[in-house]
This record gives sequence, C-alpha cells and structure tokens, in this order.
Amino acid sequence: GCSGNYHRNQIMRVATEPTFPPFEFQGKDGELAGFSIDLMKAIATAAHFQVEFQSLPFDGIIPALQAKTVDGAISSMTITPERSKTVAFSRPYFKAGLAIAVRRDNQNITNFQSLQNHKIAVQIGTTGAKKAETVRGAEVRSFDSAPLALQELQNGNADAVINDAPVTLYAINTGNLQGIKVIQQLLTEEFYGIATAKNSLDLPLINQGLSTILENGKYQQIYQKWFKS
Ligand code: GLN
Repeated sequence: GCSGNYHRNQIMRVATEPTFPPFEFQGKDGELAGFSIDLMKAIATAAHFQVEFQSLPFDGIIPALQAKTVDGAISSMTITPERSKTVAFSRPYFKAGLAIAVRRDNQNITNFQSLQNHKIAVQIGTTGAKKAETVRGAEVRSFDSAPLALQELQNGNADAVINDAPVTLYAINTGNLQGIKVIQQLLTEEFYGIATAKNSLDLPLINQGLSTILENGKYQQIYQKWFKS
C-alpha cells in the first residue's frame, strides 16, 4: 500500500462493490467499469500512483479499510457522521440521494409516510437500508446488491426499494429494469466520498488528485461520459 513514505507509482489497493451501475460494475468483458472506476484511474494518474481494484461486498469495505487489507475504497459510499467515526473520507466527488422505487401500477405508495407497513427491499449496509429501518411497521428485506433488491420489487415480493436515485434511474432509463418507477421527491441529499483508514497517508494524495481533475476538466469529461450521453 501507500502507507509510510510516498513513492511515485506506488500501488494503492482500492476496494469497490461492482454491482452499482453507472458508478461501478463489471462490463461485458468482466472488467470493472463505470464513473467511479474512471474517476479513480484519473485521480491516480493526476497524483502519480497506481491503482489495483479489489471487489468486495459493500458491507465488507469498512472492515477491510480498518484491517488495512485495502488502502482505499470507491464505491458510491455516502459520507456520513457514523462512518466518519471509523474511516476517513476524501472531499465529496458526487451529489446523490435516496429515492423510493415502486412498481409502475402502484398508486398507494407516493411518499415516505406511505411506506408504513409495507415490504421494503434494500442493499445491506447502505444508507437506504438505514432509512428503511426507520419506517414504522415495515418489513425490511436485505440483499447483497441493489440489482437483487430491485429484482425483488419487480417480482412482486417487495412493495418498494430505497436506493440511491442515480442508480435506480439509470437501471430504468437503460431499459434494464422494467415496470418500475421512481417517486419524484428524493428522501435525502447525500455526497459520495472515497474512503480510507483514519489517518491514512493515502488520503491527501487522493484529495490532491481529485482536486487536480476537478480543476483541469478531466472530472467533467468523465461525468459527461456516464451521465450526459
Ligand atoms: N450511497 C449508499 C451508501 O453509501 C449506497 C452505496 C452502494 O450501494 N454502493 O450506503
């Protein structure tokens, strides 16, 4: 890893949970792809280090950072006060938020309040899962990935999914997820950060690279590629 003294072209081990298109997913060739993957590669180029991605379950990422089996994580991870107790975050790199998804013919679930006493599918360990646990009388079903939670909704085994809006919307807009709509009003405003262990010496390097690509247009180019085509 990059702990200790920095050397140009040192390898940073970066965890990701690649079932979250368009941010991080496995392309048809099996290679990691997505906004976050391109972003992390650009950060590394800008700050002169190398990245080696490691796929992990989402709820395994923070433990891996703490155990230092990885040096960083880019996985659409929302910066929260709770997570900030155990890991450190880069400056925010993306603004997102949670949305409720329901089947297109659903007329009763129209906002957060109307989720009461319904079955809600979520991805384990996420901010969406936390939010679902605050709904009175709800039965919360946890899945290893957002696509699995959305599939449960599509199958009629859940009434709603609480997930990051850009991911659910991307699935709908690409035609990968049919018969599902998103409730207009977002539940939260959340910011993604790249996570490291506390006091990591990699973090200043990541922030430096991130600032460089925000200033030189590279961030915008990657954003256009994934969100404006
Ligand atoms: N942004 C959400 C969170 O941090 C979901 C992340 C994810 O599923 N990859 O919990």
